[in-house]
This record gives sequence, C-alpha cells and structure tokens, in this order.
Amino acid sequence: MKTCTIFFIIVLLAFTGCQPNYYTSKDYQSVLKIDSHVHIDSDKGFFEDQAMQDNFRLITLNVDHSDSASVKQQLDRALISIKKYPGKVFYGATFYFDTTGWGTEAWSRKAISHLNISISGGAVSVKLWKNIGMTERDKNGKFIMIDDPALKPIIDFIISKNLPITGHLGEPRNCWLPLSEMTVSSDSSYFAENPRYHMFLHPEYPSYENQINARDLLLELHPDLKFIGCHLGSLEWNVDELAKRLDRFPNMAVDMAARICHLQYQSAKDRERVRNFCIKYQDRLLYGTDLSSNESDDREKVSSWVHETWLDDWKYFTTKDKMTSDKFRGTFEGLQLPKEVVRKIYGENAIRWYKLNVK
Ligand SMILES: [Zn+2]
Repeated sequence: MKTCTIFFIIVLLAFTGCQPNYYTSKDYQSVLKIDSHVHIDSDKGFFEDQAMQDNFRLITLNVDHSDSASVKQQLDRALISIKKYPGKVFYGATFYFDTTGWGTEAWSRKAISHLNISISGGAVSVKLWKNIGMTERDKNGKFIMIDDPALKPIIDFIISKNLPITGHLGEPRNCWLPLSEMTVSSDSSYFAENPRYHMFLHPEYPSYENQINARDLLLELHPDLKFIGCHLGSLEWNVDELAKRLDRFPNMAVDMAARICHLQYQSAKDRERVRNFCIKYQDRLLYGTDLSSNESDDREKVSSWVHETWLDDWKYFTTKDKMTSDKFRGTFEGLQLPKEVVRKIYGENAIRWYKLNVK
C-alpha cells in the first residue's frame, strides 16, 4: 500500500512536471489579457466589443495633443466607455497644457483644478505627453521640460491622489536620425508624416539625451512617484539601457505600446538578450499596443486590425515560431516566455501598477 502511494506521488509529480510551461496560440482566447495603452476616440464601441471577444481589458489614455476641446471630448468618450464596460475599460486622464501664466502659482492652481475634473470620473492614471519637452515653451522661447520646478505642484498633486503618471516623454531614438537611417518603418513613416516631431530636422530642439535626462531627473526628484513610461520609456532601442533605468528607479515600469517591433528588431540580432530582459524585469513590463479607433472607422476595420495585431503579439511572446515583421527586414524567433511571465506582462502588472479592479 505504502509503495503504491509513493508510486502515485511519483507519477503525479512526473505528470505535473511535464505540464507545459508555455502557452500556445490556442491559449490566446482563454487567458484574460490587458492592453494597457490604447486610444478609443469613438463612442461606437467597436474597439471595446472586439476586446471583449478576444478576452482583453483596456486602458484608454487621453492625450493633450491639440486643444482643450479635444481633451474634453476624449474625457467624455472615456467616461461613456467605462460606464458601458465597468471593470473592463479604464481610462488615464490628462489636462490641457495652456502656457498662459506659466510658472505662476495661478497657473498650477488652474491646471490642478482641470486635472481634478479629469480624474474625478475614476481615472487610473494621469497621462503626460511629449508636448512637454517638444512643443511647449516659456515666454522666453525655452522648452518646458518635465523636470521643470514649475511642474512640481502638478506632480505632487498626482502623487497625493495616489495615481501613477503614464509618461510619453521624448521620442524613439530614431526620431533624431534621418528617415533612411531609422531602424523600423513604423518610425520612418510616422516622422515622414509628422515632420514637426522629426527632431533630425530641428537641431535647435532638445536632444534625445536632454529628454531622457529630464525624465530621469523627474524620477530622482520624486522617488514616491509611480511612473509608467510609455513606449518602453523611450529607451526602445536597447534593452540594456532600459534595464539600467529600471534598476535605478524601482517605481518605474514601462509599457510596450507601438514599440514591440523594437523588441523584435533586437530579437533578430540577439533573441536571448531580449528574452532574458523580459524574464528579469517581468514585474515591470506592461503589454500595450497604442491601437486606436476614431469616429470614422467602421466596425470591420477596427475589429480585424486590433484582432490581428493582438494575435501576432501573442505569438511573439508565447511561441518560438519563426516570424517576420512588416516594419523591418529579416526574421526573428518568438520569445516563448514562461506562462507566469506572460500572465504578468499581459495583465497582472497592469492590475498592480494601475490598481485596476478588473471584472
Ligand atoms: Zn499612445
């Protein structure tokens, strides 16, 4: 009897030991996933419906990219969406950066009161954008950087509300290169279409290093601030550089929005380096895409675009299939990360960093 029990334990251990530690493409549907960086600029619900079908939860991030009317409209749409999909869609708030009166106490009071309205609908973060550092200037024409002391009351307010900052600060390093030298076509096509943000054309603007240093200084000045750096913290070009910041700033995490191709680009050269990075920093990486939808999109376009992007990314992180990308030449192999790492990157980290009450 005793021998029999031992035998069964051995069989059981052998069986559980053989349980695959990796997901496959077939598991895509059954795993609850979070896309922590999208932009839903429509109240039609096409994006959200596809997310529900694909077992995704969403964080839609409002962005201060044009004027206060747009910021208000994004807020209204986010509030409609979170009400319609409670526990399934969340939003990051923002505020319109008006430089009138910049640097005065009145400026920060007004900005805080706008921000207070923006977060009052249940925001899970405050999104700060690259206009800080690349567009906004003081009355002497000097660029306003994220570590400017005049922004301190805003940062302190966000910390006091117990919210993280989701910061898109600076740009990919490609932005400072000529189009022909950029490593991925998503960057070269974006900067070809948006020359005002193509810093190679504007040598008088802050440099790439200026942007990264200002962000680093912000984190040094506010060690209590929870900071989620969008787009791999603008250190997309080298996982080792990103690792240095994650080591230095324990309250920093990053999302991967629109930069997974940069991980793939590095994978093509040295897969193990990227894979080891993802495993080592498994608690600090948030899956995100930067997918968006607006009023003019039809359902079919939104559904197929987001579904295909999500499936493709899942394949990269979970399998070791040979893959290609439409963003650069060459092949690379999927990372086949262990299940527990995939679960963190695809949801558990977003839940923890953004304190999401997911349903
Ligand atoms: Zn974005």
